Amino acid sequence: MSYRKFRADHLFTGHEWLNDEFVLVTGQRGEIVDILPVSEAGEDIAFFSGILSPGFINCHCHLELSHMKGVIPEKTGMVDFLIRVIQQRNFDSATIKQAIANAESSMLENGIVAVGDICNTADTIDVKKAGRLHYHNFSEAIGFSEATAPQRFEAALTVYDQFARLYRMPAESNSIVPHAPYSVSPRLFQLITRFAGNHLLTIHNQESEAENEFVEKGTGDFHRLFKALNIDISGYKPYAQRSIQSYLTHFLPTQSVILVHNAHTSKDDLEFIAHCPLPIANLYFCLCPNANEYIGNPLPNIDLLREYQAPITIGTDSLASNHQLSILAELHTIHRQYPHIVLSELLTWATINGARALELDNLLGSFEPGKQPGVLVINEPLTQVTRLI
Ligand SMILES: [Zn+2]
Repeated sequence: MSYRKFRADHLFTGHEWLNDEFVLVTGQRGEIVDILPVSEAGEDIAFFSGILSPGFINCHCHLELSHMKGVIPEKTGMVDFLIRVIQQRNFDSATIKQAIANAESSMLENGIVAVGDICNTADTIDVKKAGRLHYHNFSEAIGFSEATAPQRFEAALTVYDQFARLYRMPAESNSIVPHAPYSVSPRLFQLITRFAGNHLLTIHNQESEAENEFVEKGTGDFHRLFKALNIDISGYKPYAQRSIQSYLTHFLPTQSVILVHNAHTSKDDLEFIAHCPLPIANLYFCLCPNANEYIGNPLPNIDLLREYQAPITIGTDSLASNHQLSILAELHTIHRQYPHIVLSELLTWATINGARALELDNLLGSFEPGKQPGVLVINEPLTQVTRLI
């Protein structure tokens, strides 16, 4: 067997730092063989300046919206952003497919090896068939009205089925998921969480304060959204609870859930989660800071999440609300606002935590023998990443 050997100023294994005295040894296709002291690694060692890291995991994307890059201006606020996505997402099929292919290539170049991808259509199926990246396909159900819950579920199931056919074990890489607390009725929630094989789910959580207000009190800017979409909310009964507290118990304790955004998740919410009588087996908090900034939402209170030892992962969201699909760019934004968070913690979120959240940590997320996590070299000011494998 012929080996490839990598050495750099620093080596981040997914769990810890090693210095330039250690060499990462892989097979030709990037399968991890060992990490050895340089004195035992032999010859033909390639040296890089910067940090060697396992490939990045993007826990939240909407690859199918890639054609919307630059379509929606920045800082519109949540409601206008949502209205524009719904009203302006229809382009011709060739444009949509080309944008998807280009966006996937850019993720590969940016060192991303796996993606948790929200799907409202099967537009991304052709690029996914090629198998250049690992995907978990989250077929998304949206439906405010109780009466139409079965039809809305069927629509998501149709998308799910198209992706499921690509996999020998469909439930390992596919789920049906709720869009957001304000857009999914309790009946639709029940259909989603009881769907056979649905064990890894995700939901947009507390992306805006308007969401907390609408769910708790039934007031605020979300009225404009429902009016623009011609949705009758006259029968809506607010929950008298903050958003996450109103819906979390719909999930089953055996399910894993990736909560996305968390820009307005409070201490009270984290206390609620900590004392939930039937806690969810695995709860992850995915941060998409560049999308928050693009839309005009604040970044989450990341120190508060850390205080509660919330497992954090990173997502790019879509090109409708981001200038690029780059996990490194997301880390850079976090570093700007939270300079006291050390680099190893940021990289842990971007690698092993993301792999665990997408249930791909048997293969990705760290340099451990037998895994094939990709090998990146990152420069020290966190501005550039080069994919070595
Ligand atoms: Zn999203």
